[in-house]
This record gives sequence, C-alpha cells and structure tokens, in this order.
Amino acid sequence: MPFMPFYIPRHKQLRIVIVGGGYAGIAALVTFLRYMPEAKITLIDARTDHLKITHLHETFRYPLQDFLIAFSALENRFGCRHVCAKLTLEKSTLEQWQNDKFLVINDEILEFDYLLITSGSAVAQMSKAENIFDLHDFMRIPGFDLLASVLDKKEKGERFISVIGGGATGIQFLFEIAYFLRRQKIESKLRLIHGADRVLNQFVTGFSTYAQARMSALDIDFYPNTHYYGQQADEISLGDNETGRKFHLPSAISFLFLGKQPKTLLLANAFGQVMGEKHALQNIFTAGDCSNYHSFGSNTMTAQSAVRKGQLAARNVLRHSGSLKLLEPYLHRDLGYVVSLGPTDAVGWLALEGNVVTGLPALMIKEVVEAQYDLLLTGIDTYIV
Ligand SMILES: Cc1cc2nc3c(=O)[nH]c(=O)nc-3n(C[C@H](O)[C@H](O)[C@H](O)COP(=O)(O)OP(=O)(O)OC[C@H]3O[C@@H](n4cnc5c(N)ncnc54)[C@H](O)[C@@H]3O)c2cc1C
Repeated sequence: MPFMPFYIPRHKQLRIVIVGGGYAGIAALVTFLRYMPEAKITLIDARTDHLKITHLHETFRYPLQDFLIAFSALENRFGCRHVCAKLTLEKSTLEQWQNDKFLVINDEILEFDYLLITSGSAVAQMSKAENIFDLHDFMRIPGFDLLASVLDKKEKGERFISVIGGGATGIQFLFEIAYFLRRQKIESKLRLIHGADRVLNQFVTGFSTYAQARMSALDIDFYPNTHYYGQQADEISLGDNETGRKFHLPSAISFLFLGKQPKTLLLANAFGQVMGEKHALQNIFTAGDCSNYHSFGSNTMTAQSAVRKGQLAARNVLRHSGSLKLLEPYLHRDLGYVVSLGPTDAVGWLALEGNVVTGLPALMIKEVVEAQYDLLLTGIDTYIV
C-alpha cells in the first residue's frame, strides 16, 4: 500500500459517496482506491458518461464519443457503483446529512461515512432561439454535425457566424470553427463579440496580442467592448459598452460562451470540509469548481485545481477516518494554463503567469497535461505537485 504522511488507518472499508463524476470526482475516486482499495464508493452523477470536457471544442475534428467514458466502464475498472441521478444540493440539507449520515436518492437510502461533493459549476445560460448554441448543445452534438446541419438549412452567400465571449472557452471554439470552415471550404464570415477591450483578458496581455494576431490572419472580425443583448431571426442585437449605442448585425448562427455560474458554491475550510452555519461539517467535503477553499491554494475554476482539490479532499477524508486526524491544508498554486488556437497552435503560461509560451511548445504542454489526465482515468496517478 502506498505511504501517506499522517495517515494511520483505523478502517479497512469506508462507505464514501461522491456527488459528481467530473475531474474532481474522478481524481478523488482514484486517490481513495489507491490508499484504501476496499473502500465502498458510490458515485452519483446525473450523466451516463464521464465527459472529458476540456476537449469539447475538438468535436469539430473528432467524434464526441472520443471524449466520453461510460460510468459503467468506470464501475468495472474501479469497482465502484454509479447511481445515475441528479442530487438536489441545498445548503440547508448539508447539516442534516452530516447528522443523519445518509441521503435519499432515487427512493434509495444511501448510508455513508463521508460525503464528497464535486458537482462542478453550471454553464451560464440565457433564453435562446433555434439558431443559437451553447456548451450544453456541444455536450450532446459534436461541433461538426451541429454547424454543418445548421448551415445546410441556410442560403449560401454571406452567412455570418457569431461567437459571443472571448474568454478561454470562446477562443478555443472560435479557432476550431475557423479551421473547420476552411477545411470544409464553407463560405462564411466569422466574428467574435467580446465585452472587454481584449480577448483572454483574464490573462496577461501577451495572450491577447498573440490570439488577436492569429484572428486577423484567419480574417475573423473582432468586436471588443461589445455587449450581446440577444438574437431575433438572423440578426443579433449588440451595444457599444463605451458609447451605449445599440446596433444590429446579420448572424445566421450564434455560439454563446458566457462563462460559468457556480449555482452551489460551497465554502470550505483549508482542508476541504464544507463550512456549516457555525462549524466545519466533519464528514462532508467538497472539491472542484463548486468549492471555494479558505486557504492559500488556487480556487480557479480549472481542471488543474479540480484534480488537486479532489486528491486533497480524498486524502483528508482518509486521514480524518484514521487515528491521528491530522489534515493537510490546500496549498496548490496553478502551474500554468494553455488555450488552444486550433489544431496546430496555442498560447499559454508556464510556471509564472508572465511567462507566455506560444505555438508548438504551448501545444506540447497541453498534450502532456491531457495525457496525464488520461492516465488518471486508467487509475495511474502521475501528479507529483
Ligand atoms: C470547453 C471547455 C474547455 C476547458 N478547458 C480547460 C483546460 O484546457 N484546462 C483547464 O484546466 N480547465 C479547462 N476547463 C475547465 C474545466 O473543465 C473545469 O474547471 C473542470 O471540469 C471542473 O471539474 P469539476 O469536477 O469541478 O466539474 P465537472 O468536470 O463539471 O464535473 C461535474 C460533474 O458533476 C455532475 N453533476 C453536477 N451536478 C450534479 C448533481 N446535482 N447531482 C449529480 N451529479 C451532478 C455533472 O454531470 C458532472 O459530471 C474547460 C472547460 C470547458 C467547458
């Protein structure tokens, strides 16, 4: 059995319920089984498959199936149980679960020693017409099917495609769409609408300079400082953030990437235990995008932080169940972040946020990170820091 500092086991088989089988949930599952192979783990997830969502924009090149792993396959691989259900997560019920040590799902009583909530964050949504798409649509239909089927229905000629949102997700989709149109020789004009004065404005300016230069090279129109109000038929309504002037542009299809909206943001202490009204709930932990740890570690909504929090929460659950009860604080700092700009290009930072890496080296970093996660999904943990 691998050694874990400050862990002297008292139990051979804990009953653990994980809510959410995304990046944090899977990282926790693998960690539990590494240190307690006989743990009885139930994974509650509303989906039938684990989605490697960091690849979703690549469905303009590869089938969606390539990025899905059935929870039934993970049940066989890890000997856990998957319950396909959406658990209603109300802050008020957490204290009750802590006291009862059971929850009810699909009319079944699930008893647990520890509960770990890793339900991620909801994608921001607004009401949308049939020619508007967002991340939820890409989770069901691969990009190439989605775009091709809609364009087929539209008349040829100047067909405008609008991407709304120039954050990391919007930019990754924008470039994939641009290359898809080129590969398929589809005549369409692509534009990006963004509320800030530069794309990728959560990163240093080197990101924006590089990405915007690549956008110009691909003849993508850029509307900075522009607010998106909505779409009626084949027109979008926009507003200039500086002057307040409202205007309309033709748009056959619009893709919305408006960011994340954590519906259930759970506050946790530095060890990952959910904070109740007065005290930390001893047997309820959280990790991933739905969690905010009161610690020096990174609370960014990234797969990187989700995996590290998932691992830490799992280690702390085991330590809490052991004889010493000495828990480890969350101190992980992000090591880098890479945004892909189509199949052969990327921009990112490594080690220091100002250390901007572009082109092939950036692409290689992304490949290594993705490969590391693929290994984790097979049960091999190669994360050192
Ligand atoms: C297109 C795209 C590209 C990205 N690229 C990157 C990248 O390159 N690098 C990076 O670091 N990050 C990236 N991210 C962000 C990263 O994917 C998230 O930060 C990460 O997925 C968060 O992991 P999580 O486990 O907290 O949540 P998720 O991975 O979202 O998993 C949550 C799971 O919980 C389930 N669930 C939710 N609510 C309930 C409920 N009530 N009951 C039961 N089950 C529930 C969901 O079905 C889901 O399976 C990207 C995100 C997107 C959308």
